[in-house]
Amino acid sequence: MSHIVDRRNLDFLLFDMFDVEADRPGQTYAGYDRQLITQLLDTAQKLAEAEYLPSSASLDASPPIFANGEAVMPPSVRAALAAYRDAGLPAQSFPVELGGSGLPYLIAMLVNGMFIAANISIANYSLLTAAAARLLLAFGTEEQRTRFALPMIAGQWMGTMCLSEPQAGSSLADITTRAEPAGEGTFRLRGTKIWISGGGHGMTENIVHLVLARLPGAPAGVKGISLFLVPQKRLDAEGRPGEDNNVTLIGLAHKMGQRGTTNCQLNFGEAGPTLGYLIGEPHQGLRAMFHMMNEARIGVGHVATMSGLTGYRYSRRYAQERVQGRRIGHKDPTTPQVPLIEHADIRRMLLAQKAAVEGALALCVFCALLVDEQGAASGEELKEVRLLLEVLTPIVKSWPSEHCLKANELAMQIMGGAGYTCDHPVERYYRDNRLNHIYEGTYGIQAIDLLGRKVRMDDGHGLDLLLARIRATIGDASQMPDLATHAAALEEALSWLEAATAAVMGEGDQERGLANATLYLDAMGTIVIAWLWLWQALVARRCQAPDTTQPDPFLQGKRAACDYHFRYILPHARIHLSLVEGLDDTCLAVSADQIEAG
Ligand SMILES: Cc1cc2nc3c(=O)[nH]c(=O)nc-3n(C[C@H](O)[C@H](O)[C@H](O)COP(=O)(O)OP(=O)(O)OC[C@H]3O[C@@H](n4cnc5c(N)ncnc54)[C@H](O)[C@@H]3O)c2cc1C
Repeated sequence: MSHIVDRRNLDFLLFDMFDVEADRPGQTYAGYDRQLITQLLDTAQKLAEAEYLPSSASLDASPPIFANGEAVMPPSVRAALAAYRDAGLPAQSFPVELGGSGLPYLIAMLVNGMFIAANISIANYSLLTAAAARLLLAFGTEEQRTRFALPMIAGQWMGTMCLSEPQAGSSLADITTRAEPAGEGTFRLRGTKIWISGGGHGMTENIVHLVLARLPGAPAGVKGISLFLVPQKRLDAEGRPGEDNNVTLIGLAHKMGQRGTTNCQLNFGEAGPTLGYLIGEPHQGLRAMFHMMNEARIGVGHVATMSGLTGYRYSRRYAQERVQGRRIGHKDPTTPQVPLIEHADIRRMLLAQKAAVEGALALCVFCALLVDEQGAASGEELKEVRLLLEVLTPIVKSWPSEHCLKANELAMQIMGGAGYTCDHPVERYYRDNRLNHIYEGTYGIQAIDLLGRKVRMDDGHGLDLLLARIRATIGDASQMPDLATHAAALEEALSWLEAATAAVMGEGDQERGLANATLYLDAMGTIVIAWLWLWQALVARRCQAPDTTQPDPFLQGKRAACDYHFRYILPHARIHLSLVEGLDDTCLAVSADQIEAG
């Protein structure tokens, strides 16, 4: 059994549920048949298991350290990244004319999923580099693309995203890093960035930092932020990294998880001039960053899902092997003890993990399909795909981060004392996963984005599109006697969502309307996942040969997980949405004094 992937489930999602081999608008997956996709996934799985997985525990125990002004990297990181590069994987999702393989976003995401599940700390370096290169391709000049993006795509250089500052984390409006024109199209940058992932090391001959900063006289707030390309080393006339560019590593954060990925405080322009180049138009930096954020946020949800998956698979095996106690009603101590999985409460925790992880993965795959469709669509169709993706982005980032983290907690619980020790990886999966709720916009910020902006966009058309898709599945399921109850429950849940949305839209006091935005985000995510479970149950039903005397346990397991989500999780959405609908002000009204008193 693989620790890092459930290939049967991937096949189910790709070929049975989402049918990627079918003709799609824009021929999104033309040329990618089942055989080729299987081959790509096989190769990735093998490489991830051989090169990434073995060092996952040792890297966590002995992460990079700060010495002599730089991050000293454990050799395992360099070796694994070299294997990834030698397999041509950094370029996989880039166009063929740039040296890439042109893999659709969805396939590249699933290929990367193997490396993420095997060792997220190492996978982060290439994920960040690919995101930075993609941003340069979208907004950079021809020269910036050729001189900087191409070596990143080839896996020779790496990249970072430098947004956060000590006084500006969630509130990017308050960043203060400055960029002064320095002649010949360059800018001199000065300021401090913190929490920067993937910087400060000497594993590649250059690192390309994408830095948010303000030009002189820039408007206050987010409308005055520009984006700059800042190399760790300046390029000589031949385009080779040469002179140091004074991007100084001040120290590394000592993190709870994902400990093999460096996390840096970087000073720009303090040790000497730091030169950078403007990317795109002045004051449009945040727009460029956010252009990439949607994909980055699907990526975060996918990382959270992979953490949940590895915990689920590990704890499931443990529950099959560890014997403890006897089933209720069987007290005879002379009879053998039974495996943990025989106990209903253990099965509850396994089913909860399965429902969260496989539900979340279906959501990630659905959003990745939309990204690919967006690349191929035009006109009205493009507008609709984009809107749908806008509404789903805070959900795909946040629901897996919340519920697959809970899955990791259950994995530990299943293992009792063993789950609490470093002898097993599940506590590490939990620690690694905990970050996903924090970066790329915290849970609270995603919630305000969803309820304050996304569901209002284009007069709520994005939400309408989503509800229409959900109702189409409800229509199909209500025809099936064994699924009709779930179909009706989902329709009822949509009515709670609509009522809560209408109440907030009708509230003049914005602060009050958004006071329970996080509950709304969680409830809407739970409803979206219920939709995807109902859809999976329909597909499982279709895949099961009707006349078989031996039902397929995999397909039956799908149905059990669907039942679990509908009976145990979906009802929580009602409580959350009734607080939103009632514009409950318990949290808004309590004063700081009242909280501080005592
Ligand atoms: C391991 C790690 C890696 C990271 N990597 C990068 C990176 O590569 N590049 C980069 O630029 N940054 C990176 N970050 C920074 C990350 O994006 C920020 O930590 C995050 O945006 C939150 O900012 P903050 O830490 O300043 O918290 P704060 O903004 O101080 O937020 C603290 C709490 O207050 C809440 N809050 C804040 N404002 C509001 C509001 N208006 N309404 C309601 N609630 C609010 C938040 O939801 C949060 O719960 C990383 C962080 C970590 C921990």
